[in-house]
Amino acid sequence: MELSLKGKVAMVAAASRGLGFGIADALAKEGANLSIGSRHDKEIFSAARSLSEKYAIKALGVGMDASERDSIERWVQQTTQAFGTVDCLVINAGGPPAGRFDQFGDKDWQAAFELTLMSAVRMLRCVLPLMREKGKGSIVCITSTTIKEPSETLILSNVMRSGLTSLIKTLSFDLAKEGIRINNIVPGRIDTDRVRALDGLGAVNQGISPQEIKARNQSNIPMQRYGNISEFGAAAAFLLSDAASYITGETLVVDGGATRTVW
Ligand code: NAD
Repeated sequence: MELSLKGKVAMVAAASRGLGFGIADALAKEGANLSIGSRHDKEIFSAARSLSEKYAIKALGVGMDASERDSIERWVQQTTQAFGTVDCLVINAGGPPAGRFDQFGDKDWQAAFELTLMSAVRMLRCVLPLMREKGKGSIVCITSTTIKEPSETLILSNVMRSGLTSLIKTLSFDLAKEGIRINNIVPGRIDTDRVRALDGLGAVNQGISPQEIKARNQSNIPMQRYGNISEFGAAAAFLLSDAASYITGETLVVDGGATRTVW
């Protein structure tokens, strides 16, 4: 299959490790040049260097905080200075803290809103004009299977990501007319630091070991295992590529069959 990503410029947020890094790696493997951002400066510089050396592509690493408007604007400015254009955008950020309704006050809700929903609004505001100029572009946003099956212990994530999913679908109608596709990619349990931390928390709450929690979670997944970041990256690279040229406003679930819903 021809993905036609060679020489394209892709911005990937929150990409020093985990899902963002998996996507950056998959895009670089196809020959795309990268502008990757993360809150962890040292890690993002080193990720950019290693991807650039591994795949002989250009990769810019930028320290940025997805929950801050100025930081996003600076990332996009640095990207246009380095590459002059943007073809693909991956909207991503660290996850909001786990917890139930009674655990959170206004400050927590506001922080989750800035981190998960406003980060997407701001990335879109900065990057859409660049895509509109060329009449072409593709965007993928990482949310979670909790938009389909809300988790009682991830209330901030459930609520913000549902709003984000609605934003993606709503925008897709107008953007389609402008040659820009936008899709939602939904991880179930992909083996990353975030999932390991959530398993650790679950272990403490239930008084069992993280290994037992993982075994229990895996037994509920039809494929009987967690996914890995390469599998997730490959799915995102497909959605971002010309191979998905007739797909927009869609939600692609990457969860080994775990979500028990028809739609
Ligand atoms: P991770 O903890 O492994 O990696 C997070 C990445 O985000 C790191 O590169 C970190 O530097 C960066 N980051 C964190 N906060 C940031 C910020 N404010 N600004 C910029 N960069 C920031 O997490 P992950 O598993 O890769 O998850 C990525 C997103 O997907 C999270 O929002 C997570 O909640 C969500 N998610 C993940 C899974 C999964 O299976 N891994 C499932 C559902 C949802």
